[in-house]
Amino acid sequence: MSTETTPIAPVTPAPSGIRFDGVSVAYGENTVLDRLDLTVEPGEVMALLGPSGSGKTTALRAVAGFVRPASGRVYIGGRDVTQLPPHQRGIGMVVQQYALFPHLKVKDNVAFGLKAHRTPRDEIAGRVTEALELVGMAAYATRYPRELSGGQQQRVAIARALAIRPGVLLLDEPLSALDARLRSGMLAELARLHRELPDVSILYVTHDQVEALTLADRIAVMDRARLQDCGTPEELYRRPRTEFTASFVGNANLLPVTVTGPGRVDLAGAAFDVPTLTATPGATATLCVRPHLVGLGPGPNALTGTVTEVQWRGSTHRVHADIDGHPLMADLRELREPPALGAPVTLHFAPEDAVLLPAGAAREREVAGG
Ligand code: ADP
Repeated sequence: MSTETTPIAPVTPAPSGIRFDGVSVAYGENTVLDRLDLTVEPGEVMALLGPSGSGKTTALRAVAGFVRPASGRVYIGGRDVTQLPPHQRGIGMVVQQYALFPHLKVKDNVAFGLKAHRTPRDEIAGRVTEALELVGMAAYATRYPRELSGGQQQRVAIARALAIRPGVLLLDEPLSALDARLRSGMLAELARLHRELPDVSILYVTHDQVEALTLADRIAVMDRARLQDCGTPEELYRRPRTEFTASFVGNANLLPVTVTGPGRVDLAGAAFDVPTLTATPGATATLCVRPHLVGLGPGPNALTGTVTEVQWRGSTHRVHADIDGHPLMADLRELREPPALGAPVTLHFAPEDAVLLPAGAAREREVAGG
């Protein structure tokens, strides 16, 4: 590897914090990352959340130095690293497939990066133990990767990334190769690691909203090469700015409405109160209401329709209704008797629980008759 021959200063303590400044990446004609502006603060976990192909891994690889932006700059710890090779950026990276060297014992896998970074020989053993202890794998130092479970291998991969004491940790779908039970254990493990490394910035690529909601201080929502939204999990859930965010972060009812006046919209002939908005009368918009904020029975903003499906979900019933051709979900707690399929139903929501969004896919679905 080229890192073997390049003298590199040890990166301790490594600078933290990441900034994308108008970063675009293209493959031929295809722009796969379009002018990304995003800052990850020192010590912050930022999830890059979005569907497959939305540009998340490309953004992460631009930080690592594995792709060259067509335009824009990448900063780590305030330093412009856009032109620096990966091994000089002070980053640790973990990918979906653990990529451990099969012929090296756990401790030698972890030591590998340290040697490449020219860590003084007498420090290596201590740093390896420190990193393995961080991930609870010190007892497995002399095993080979094949003697470990998938979850254990991924812990070793994380230890290897942490051994150089990076200021920035890049995680690319680190849990997606694990089964569901291991995944939730590793999620808790990563949250603990974050608490133990309060100065490290973590950029976490995932298409799984549960991982993003559980781990991230903030979530950057990506779609089609663009950043769509960015905020704390709670902000994105309560106040999404786009239909895409509303439906990708949690479940959402998205209803196509027409603005009739200040704080008033019309849905299929019925009028509803919503938070005050700046949209002009006559404009089309999408009303977003979370299913757990929809109540059963009459109330403010009542909607009447027909029950199309009822699902028992443990702590709630999810009632699907057809409201004059529009689908609506309500997650209802403590229902003594769930409504019958085909029965008439009245549902309602409080004006302050609705969010009005720019018209998008809900309108397109209506127009398409879907
Ligand atoms: P995500 O991580 O969100 O799934 P990626 O960043 O991996 O998305 O990919 C974004 C787009 O870039 C995809 O359409 C993918 O096919 C394309 N892409 C990624 N790497 C390459 C490459 N080396 N050459 C050409 N296209 C690529």
